[in-house]
Amino acid sequence: MISFYPGPSRVYDQVPTYVKEAHEQGLLSANHRSPEFMELARSVKQLLHSKLLVPGDYKILFTSSATECWEIIAQSLTRQCSQHYYNGAFGKKWFGFAKAIVPSTIESSFEIQCELPSGNIDQKADCICVTHSETSNGTAIDLATLSELQKLKSEESIIAVDGTSSMAGVRYDFDLADVWYASIQKCFGLPAGMGILIVSPKAIERAEQIGDVEHYNSILKILENESKDQTHYTPNVLAIYLLKRTLENNPGIETIDKLIQSRYVTWEQIVHQSNDLDWLVSNVNCRSTTVLALKHPDPDSIKAKAREAGYILGNGYGPWSDNTFRIANYPALSDEETVALQNWIVATCT
Ligand SMILES: *Cc1c(COP(=O)(O)O)cnc(C)c1O
Repeated sequence: MISFYPGPSRVYDQVPTYVKEAHEQGLLSANHRSPEFMELARSVKQLLHSKLLVPGDYKILFTSSATECWEIIAQSLTRQCSQHYYNGAFGKKWFGFAKAIVPSTIESSFEIQCELPSGNIDQKADCICVTHSETSNGTAIDLATLSELQKLKSEESIIAVDGTSSMAGVRYDFDLADVWYASIQKCFGLPAGMGILIVSPKAIERAEQIGDVEHYNSILKILENESKDQTHYTPNVLAIYLLKRTLENNPGIETIDKLIQSRYVTWEQIVHQSNDLDWLVSNVNCRSTTVLALKHPDPDSIKAKAREAGYILGNGYGPWSDNTFRIANYPALSDEETVALQNWIVATCT
């Protein structure tokens, strides 16, 4: 069975080998204040900087999930309130978590066929929150829109980006935002259980001004531990090791981005030539290249047939579950697997 589910998703084939290595090296029992762990943490951060092109002055922090990052941003990085642009389930959940912490959180939902309405930034908001790739419906924000948002927002405010289903698959321009985060069970091709939070100098300055130290995951405590190559909690050392080994083994993000793009272009041709299939999101500028949401008259039958043929496709999400299914276009899927599914879809969907 090959999983094209958009998360948790296919993990790299080398994972079992790396798990064994971690065990043999004694890392699975290593204390997270030990020199061995600190060395591991340091090397993973260096690899993330070099492979994903994270600017040198941005700090890379380990968390337990993307969901945790939602709370960290609301607790430690939001002064008055945040404003949330969303058009799908994950963006909406983020808004909900922020609102539970800061009741005046601003909701700016928009239609999936429309580009993000960057013109209506609320001057009260000091943290603008967007979801780069909305895993639930296959929409995405292109980097030009992010750049526009950056120009339109007030000087003091910061931008936070949920990159959970695109980080490590899409080349970002990290300078366009102050906070980026993801968890590792999507484009990173690893088992779930860890998040990565990347913050700019401006976000760090903001955190220092706010001075939140009330929570176990207050960002100042996280940053203090980071400066010692440690973590604020007992971390998922195995996941950190798996991250190190997969990053070492993978090409840089420019190469991966090209690969993902070229597979996406083939998917576009396939959808274009098919009568059964169509994109949920018709506006190409708003389409994710890593999570594909496709309309089909009978998604249940296509998913069932796919399973018989050895492919797991993703369910449509929430309101789109009756007429769509989803396909992950993540780097851990091999060329052979991708081509095999593409051929199968061409043969099966008229
Ligand atoms: C999967 C996902 C999340 C949640 O990730 P967790 O690791 O479960 O916290 C958040 N945002 C997006 C866009 C996602 O795809």
